[in-house]
Parts: sequence; structure tokens; C-alpha cells
Amino acid sequence: MIQKIFVLLLLAASVLLIILSRNTDQPASIDPEVVMNNSQLTLNVVAHKITGEHKFATNRDNEDIVRVINGAQQIWGQADIMFDTSFVETKVSEQAIEAFANGNFNAILEEDFYRQGVINIFFINNLPANGIAIYPSAIFVNDTTTVNDYRATAHEIGHILGLQHTNSSPSRLLFQGVNGTILTNEEIESARIGAEAFLMNF
Ligand SMILES: [Zn+2]
Repeated sequence: MIQKIFVLLLLAASVLLIILSRNTDQPASIDPEVVMNNSQLTLNVVAHKITGEHKFATNRDNEDIVRVINGAQQIWGQADIMFDTSFVETKVSEQAIEAFANGNFNAILEEDFYRQGVINIFFINNLPANGIAIYPSAIFVNDTTTVNDYRATAHEIGHILGLQHTNSSPSRLLFQGVNGTILTNEEIESARIGAEAFLMNF
């Protein structure tokens, strides 16, 4: 009898130990930095479909532009940065077209439809790169890209939010010319500060 009670007690004690050890494991598995970044930041984005009778008019249709924005959104979800996107057709002026032809994409900042405090994404043809970021808040995305177009878009958004290139790993979003999508905790923190600066502009 005493032996049976002893075995039962031993069993009960080990079950309790297992439960206790599980409970103590749980808090340690939550990364405090992830918890800190949990509040969602929503940025306004204007996706410009460049139209007109010139070589910079995009061949993308609306569905394709939505696909690119959604892909970029998925990448930025890891920083809890969300895009509230308006889709517009944008005719650029003759002066801007001439400036583009001379490689001066900054000319877009002078256009009426360029807006501060939002991320302007211009879908364009014949850009001399996959993507270009122009401060404070313009991005160009070429019709043809050597990497995934949504990744090129997400990469340029990274620049607009203040991130610099890295050479550390091709799996990262800020590595040039590859399909990496990873953001480090430091990049997430820094991009969120950039995103908050955008939100302050309203
Ligand atoms: Zn870059």
C-alpha cells in the first residue's frame, strides 16, 4: 500500500514538473523585440500607372499593378507596416518625359500629382534600372526587372523608409540584385521609425 502511494506521488510529482517546465518555457520563447513591433503602422501609397504616347508609358495592366503591390505588402508585413493603396492613372508632362530621357527622374518631384507624406510608386517602362527610389517619397518600378518585380518594389520602399544596402546575405531585402526578402530586427526598427516620420506628415 505504502509503495503504491509512493509510486502515485512520484507520478503526480513528475506530471507537475512537466507542467511547470512547460509554463516556464513559454515566456522565454517570446522575443521581446517582436512584441515591441506588434503595433501596425499603415502608410498611404499611391500606385501611379504612367500613361501616354511615349516610351515611358507602362505596359502593365491594373491587375498586374495590384499583384506587385500585394507582393511588396507581403514582404513588409514582417515589419507590421501596411499599405493603404490608391490606384491612379498618371499622365506626366512633356517636361518630365524629356527629363526622364536625360536620366533625370527627380523631375517627378515637380509634378502636380506627386504627393508628400505618401509613398508614390510609379510603374514605368524603359527605366534604366529595376527600380529607383527618389527622396523623400517617389519610387519607380520598371516593366521588366531582373529580380521579382514585387521584391524590387519592396526593396525601393526600404530605401524610402531609410534603409541602406547590405552585403551580408542574399536572403535579405536590402541586398542588391537578388530575390531576398528578409528584414533584420534592426532594419524593422529603423524602417518603422521612417514610417512614423511619414505618418507625422499628415
Ligand atoms: Zn537599393
